[in-house]
Amino acid sequence: MLHFLDQEIMYLKGVGPSRAELLAKELGVHTVADLLHQYPFRHEDRTKVHRICDIIEGMQNIQIRGRIIEFQKLGEGPKRRLVATFTDGTGFITLVWFRNIKGIENTYKVGVDYQVFGEPKVFQHGFNIAHPEMEELAKVQNRPLLRMQPVYHSTEKLTNRGVTSKVINQLVANAFEKLPPGSIPETLSADIVREHQLVSHEQALRDIHFSQDASSVSEARRRLKFEELFYLQLSILQYTRDRKTGYEGFPFPRVGQFFNTFYKEHLPFSLTGAQKRVIKEIHTDLQSGRQMNRLLQGDVGSGKTMVATLISLLALDNGFQACIMAPTEILAEQHYKGISKQLEPLGIRVELLTGNVKGKRRKKVLEDTQTGDVHILVGTHALIEPTVMFQNLGLVVIDEQHRFGVKQRAKLWAKNTRPPHILVMTATPIPRTLAMTVYGDLDVSVIDELPPGRKPISTRHFRSRNRAQIFNGIVTELQKGHQVYIVYPLIEENAKMDIKDLEAGYDETVKAFPHWQVGKVHGKMKPSEKEEAMRAFAARETQILVSTTVIEVGVNVPNASVMIIENAERFGLAQLHQLRGRVGRGAEQSYCILVTKDNLAEGTQERMDIMVETTDGFRIAEADLKFRGPGDLEGTAQSGLPINLRIASLIGDTVLMSETREAAARIVDADPDETRYPLLWRRLRQLKDDLTNYSDIS
Ligand code: ADP
Ligand code: MG
Repeated sequence: MLHFLDQEIMYLKGVGPSRAELLAKELGVHTVADLLHQYPFRHEDRTKVHRICDIIEGMQNIQIRGRIIEFQKLGEGPKRRLVATFTDGTGFITLVWFRNIKGIENTYKVGVDYQVFGEPKVFQHGFNIAHPEMEELAKVQNRPLLRMQPVYHSTEKLTNRGVTSKVINQLVANAFEKLPPGSIPETLSADIVREHQLVSHEQALRDIHFSQDASSVSEARRRLKFEELFYLQLSILQYTRDRKTGYEGFPFPRVGQFFNTFYKEHLPFSLTGAQKRVIKEIHTDLQSGRQMNRLLQGDVGSGKTMVATLISLLALDNGFQACIMAPTEILAEQHYKGISKQLEPLGIRVELLTGNVKGKRRKKVLEDTQTGDVHILVGTHALIEPTVMFQNLGLVVIDEQHRFGVKQRAKLWAKNTRPPHILVMTATPIPRTLAMTVYGDLDVSVIDELPPGRKPISTRHFRSRNRAQIFNGIVTELQKGHQVYIVYPLIEENAKMDIKDLEAGYDETVKAFPHWQVGKVHGKMKPSEKEEAMRAFAARETQILVSTTVIEVGVNVPNASVMIIENAERFGLAQLHQLRGRVGRGAEQSYCILVTKDNLAEGTQERMDIMVETTDGFRIAEADLKFRGPGDLEGTAQSGLPINLRIASLIGDTVLMSETREAAARIVDADPDETRYPLLWRRLRQLKDDLTNYSDIS
């Protein structure tokens, strides 16, 4: 029989079909177990009762106890409100309601003792609390109080449909009603639980949702974080072990004709020291006879593409094919054009395969790849489709890795009897402390030097009301013959409005710069239109390109010297850094202009300041991680972690991180054929599957 935990959430008391759909869509909750693993992100301590005379400015939600002395109705129309004077004998505070006035009047009485909960705000000469939570003190004292009130992540859609934090907690309670003590299976082995002094999985789940004291909440958190990080480490160490012991690779001993001729006669510039060094590191891997799995990290503009090209030539020199996979069509196209042109004099055949290559052309590319006539195949993730067969694939280069997870990489290996060498390239700087975890399955090379002659990009932050000042700067650059990007955010949930913003921005730009040609590109355009817009910009037929983040990754038009980012507050730091990297690719001074709203939300100014202060990708990455909360779903999915982190944080939980790494290492060492700890390995498989399913739906 299906365990209650695995049952669809729809059948849980209080849910039903429409809420089930909403929970699935908004929170990824499909089963009862998913719901139980929907952890509150904080708790409000309801054990404390404040005295009114102790209230000071800036307090968060607090609890007070006392009685109402009088009610008063004030104001007219939309300003109408109900006001109560409330005292606990130490002072007075005002309670105020703008809605449901009749209901409130009928519910709460003068002279009765209440417990009041809410956020005090300075108002006139004292404090007030708007729309407080109130309960009769007698009732509060009579029932077992949930003293640590859980606060759950909710979304606007959920709240609008009545699924508030409280309701989520109630649903969890309904689930627990059906789960007698002892019915939630343990997910860690008994000796790990004992050794690390963890509470049981079941206890942790009960305490994180329903707890009476702060210490049991923190024990529950520790246990749940431990579990996540343990499985994350286990997954990575398992993978590393398999790779080190399991996979022989093709040895590439030869540095031959292709490499040498290109290097001596066709290299368009001399390599930087860092480029030379990483090519050596990679070459050492390729000769070793073991499969290479290497991450090439290098800030935007550091010249990773040329490294990829040279390494591909090594594959060819040893009689193998290579493929280069890019995250977007635009980028694949650009790589294809650049590389095929560079390699043309050597008689090397480079082909392009994206969703865009269709019909006869596609058939031909596929055929010639299979016979080995195509030497280097460049493409998008169309390359991992089963129809793409190589004659002898020796090297796979994956550009901008954060969009390709371990699973997808493994699909490429399936194209061979022996796995090809894998080089993953990324400009997303991961702080060194994290690299081991996030890319624990890869060896790392770093290009820590930019090509000579680059001037640091000058970055400035403008508020919307000062945007007129930007205009002259743009004209100056255009007059010098340079080009300009104007980027707008586009997020799926808000796509309609965002496209409208972009279209309006485009129209304004066309009007404002009548002497120049303006192009436009966004993800909702047809591939052929996108391609044409990019081509025209690269060919300087358009001088200004209004776009969304489709140009974020890798696009290379060295003549562009200005990057204007509209609504910059809506982008993450890593994204701003990527976007900024689209300029400053030539020898000219380049500029990045961040435009934000006039009134900034908390934290925005700090984020903009960091961008203005530094172009150092590592500093930006560290700041970015600090700003993002723990358990950031998107962050996790994007970084390609094999396990979803809901509660643990890669930055915040460094101590637990090393504790779990040791624990996982002991398991991997002690159980090489995965027979001694069946529970752990089974659970690991399950967690990995969950992640795959999640990324499928999102
Ligand atoms: P990224 O590392 O961001 O992928 P690219 O490979 O796109 O960077 O390179 C950025 C620009 O720098 C390109 O125009 C490329 O031709 C140029 N470039 C790369 N290496 C060198 C070098 N050693 N000297 C001069 N220019 C270089
Ligand atoms: Mg690149």
